[in-house]
Amino acid sequence: MKIIFLDRDGVINKYPGDKLYVTSLAKFRFLPQAKEAIALLSKHGCKIFVASNQAGVGKGTYSQKTLDIITRKMLTDIDKVGGKIDKVYYCTHRKDAGCACRKPKPGILKKAAKEYGFDLKKAYFVGDTIRDVITAENAGCKSILVLSGREKLPNKKNWEATPDFVFKNLKEAAKFIIK
Ligand SMILES: [Mg+2]
Ligand SMILES: [Zn+2]
Repeated sequence: MKIIFLDRDGVINKYPGDKLYVTSLAKFRFLPQAKEAIALLSKHGCKIFVASNQAGVGKGTYSQKTLDIITRKMLTDIDKVGGKIDKVYYCTHRKDAGCACRKPKPGILKKAAKEYGFDLKKAYFVGDTIRDVITAENAGCKSILVLSGREKLPNKKNWEATPDFVFKNLKEAAKFIIK
């Protein structure tokens, strides 16, 4: 069975912009084909987790309740097309809180591996930032960078880590993973 971690913003839904957050349900917009990509992974028996930093909660920019509403709607809409996310993990701490779960620390991934009993070396982490690539490295996962969010190819020379694989979006990544 394949294990897939997905970052949220820029992978599943539209990247809100540098230093910006998805602060309301109205601002949560699925990227084209993202739900279908998750459904494709589910159809092939993958276990899927979301691993996302949402420090805006810790900063008070939006509430835990708002985040919960967004999560519920996201899961419902994905379910409608036949996709299943096994669990959503967030780090809602501020950067200066020094927690173990804020990416690029591998805390969230390790937690999921412990809860569900799988080997992180076999897991894929799909993200839209180099921080996600570093998170994958720190956890020992295979990294997939998608170009549907923050990171773009012309910036490649500045990347502090090298992704194992690069794809245009989650749909292309999903097609690769199930092959
Ligand atoms: Mg992201
Ligand atoms: Zn945290």
